[in-house]
Amino acid sequence: MPTHAKLRVFSLGEVEVPVGIFINNEWVEASSSETFSTTNPATGEKSLDFAHASKEDVDKAVKAARKAFKTTWGNNIQATKRAAVLFKLADLMERDTERLAALESITTGKGIRMVRTTELADSIACLRYYAGLADKLHGQTITSFGKEKFVYTVHQPIGVCGQIIPWNDPIMMWAWKVAPALAAGCTLVLKPSELTPLTALLMCDLAKEAGIPAGVLNTLPGFGSTTGDAIARHMNIDKVAFTGSVVTGRRISIAAAESNLKKVNLELGGKSPILVFDSADVEEAANWTALAIWFNSGQYCCAGSRVYIQEGVYEKFITALKQRAEACAIGQPHDEKTSFGPLICETQRDKVLNYIVSGKEAGARVVTGGEKWPQSNGGFWIEPTILADTTPDMRVVKEEIFGPVIVAAPFSTEEQAVELANDTTYGLAAAVFTNDTRQVARVTSALDAGTVWCNQYAFVHPSVPFGGFKQSGTGPELGTYGMEAYMQVKAVHQNLTQRMKWPM
Ligand code: NAD
Repeated sequence: MPTHAKLRVFSLGEVEVPVGIFINNEWVEASSSETFSTTNPATGEKSLDFAHASKEDVDKAVKAARKAFKTTWGNNIQATKRAAVLFKLADLMERDTERLAALESITTGKGIRMVRTTELADSIACLRYYAGLADKLHGQTITSFGKEKFVYTVHQPIGVCGQIIPWNDPIMMWAWKVAPALAAGCTLVLKPSELTPLTALLMCDLAKEAGIPAGVLNTLPGFGSTTGDAIARHMNIDKVAFTGSVVTGRRISIAAAESNLKKVNLELGGKSPILVFDSADVEEAANWTALAIWFNSGQYCCAGSRVYIQEGVYEKFITALKQRAEACAIGQPHDEKTSFGPLICETQRDKVLNYIVSGKEAGARVVTGGEKWPQSNGGFWIEPTILADTTPDMRVVKEEIFGPVIVAAPFSTEEQAVELANDTTYGLAAAVFTNDTRQVARVTSALDAGTVWCNQYAFVHPSVPFGGFKQSGTGPELGTYGMEAYMQVKAVHQNLTQRMKWPM
């Protein structure tokens, strides 16, 4: 199949986009003629056909990545030069903002303004952050041996890394994975989600233009159970970094363990709680909670999808949140005003509708929403939905819905609030709204989550680590931790004066 195709994109008109496999800085033919297609979430119409990378293609990509690691990247290039390439890539993304934003918007259904100002802006910031960090993470000198020996540690790139990313924030998930890994000196075999492969493929041409050498960044579209599994099981991949669901994370861990015991980094799902205490500014808390659940139509890992409200302000808060739900800027992706788009696909839309039905059947009160958006036509919108008076045993309270549905319940004491918040297998994020600073300290300390916001929600930054407790993941991305995850520590003992007598 051809490696490029035409796509009609909003005001850009018809543009040529990549739909093939990128290995060694070239668009190459896939080893089989198998393809898969994507759907426009706002219309339900078929969008593009993509090559489906096979096990053989993965193998080719790994060979290219290994060669690059041994010759042009890794320890063969100064960190400052890797930094320069990443800075250039960020500049190119900035130059192409309108094109990237339009393509990301049509791929995911997100409002184009939201893509431009959040996901794309954050991705560029992430590249610049890791470009800046590339030459700043050093080993240690260990001086405890005096004249006897000189001991130091070296931080070396891990090697060839597999990266498997989800559909919900394709460009940002790409940047979070690729930027720290390339800054650290690793070479990559990356598989985007089969629902949104376009973004990662678009980035290949920009990476080449930025000067990333052949073989450093290889990108293979395909399904998880085939292309993804081939990456997770490959005997010559040193690490696999994954963002996605718990079920897939578990499969990848098993595949990695059953093959070469490659290192695994998992960023998984969440069911993040928000606690609103009587002392909170209710209007402000309702604004942040609206952002927490309706940003990206609830399709992001740290969505605040459970809100627990102290009895004194329960009804007042529910009323305030209902007003926010009904004021959401629901609309078409190309409309600059839109901040609430469709869900990614029909399956996801139906899954969310089924959760709403299960919540109603279990006795939850539908405060607002609960249906398909009446103007959906063929697209996959669901109205912003609040289910109140929920109880801990309901499926809508226990399971990640990954859609615009928030469950709400009252609590009476701080102790009860913390218990409800922590009553989950997940531990990605949490938030507390209160004007009592001592309560902030107590509650943030008691919450089992990798990120806790106080009187805020959803804001992440490349310099701040982000990762899950419990079944939400195995270690943070972002910040210095995010780059250390692509490095391994070598301890070197350089003997200065010690002599060995044998036998001892
Ligand atoms: P998913 O697990 O279905 O798929 C994620 C990726 O894994 C896709 O590229 C898919 O093709 C691949 N995959 C599927 N099966 C595989 C297998 N057996 N072997 C290898 N790869 C396989 O997740 P999704 O539906 O794309 O994304 C939604 C999930 O991602 C949610 O649970 C969400 O919370 C989570 N998420 C987490 C974070 C985070 O940082 N913690 C960020 C975004 C999304």
